[in-house]
Amino acid sequence: MDNQKNTEIQYNIDYRDIKYPRLEFKTGSLLLVLPKNYQKQTTLLEKHKKWIQTKNQTINTALQQAKTKTLNQTRTTQELKTLVNQTTQKIQKEHNFKINKIIYRKMKTKWASHSQKNNLTINTLLKHLPQKLIEYVIFHEMTHTKQRKHNQTFWNTIAKKYPNHQTQEKNLLIYWFLVQEILTKTTLNNKKQEKATKSCEK
Ligand SMILES: [Zn+2]
Repeated sequence: MDNQKNTEIQYNIDYRDIKYPRLEFKTGSLLLVLPKNYQKQTTLLEKHKKWIQTKNQTINTALQQAKTKTLNQTRTTQELKTLVNQTTQKIQKEHNFKINKIIYRKMKTKWASHSQKNNLTINTLLKHLPQKLIEYVIFHEMTHTKQRKHNQTFWNTIAKKYPNHQTQEKNLLIYWFLVQEILTKTTLNNKKQEKATKSCEK
């Protein structure tokens, strides 16, 4: 067999009351979400081998690159709020994105999110990131006021301002692994250590 590499990738299995199996990388490692009594996982892994390897490589690269970056430990939450306010106002002027209100909290699965009411939720852990990356996250979320999903229209809008948005998204993943160290220190009691692989989940 030539799929030795595939079997080396560790994974967890979660049996749920579902009809179809699916693969997830939300936690930074592979999770097989399977219908109860499902037994064809070897075939499933073989079928999605390429996708698994690509995802795994992306995560490993990010983990390696995390060693070359450091977190901003001096920016306060208040300074983050000022920066977010200035940035949203600037973007609202330049584009026709309307934000209702901004909510701040520490989140364990994403950097930010946007609601249907056009509320923006900002992860206060963003204060540890470089300013340019914070500005990107805000622009990304505000673009969701026009396009909820991560479809081509969405990325085309993003690309007009950020032709290198793939790099920004990669950096967000790298920094995500870095802030996990802060999160694990402050939430030792939390059973779930979830790690997002995107700037937000849509
Ligand atoms: Zn998004």
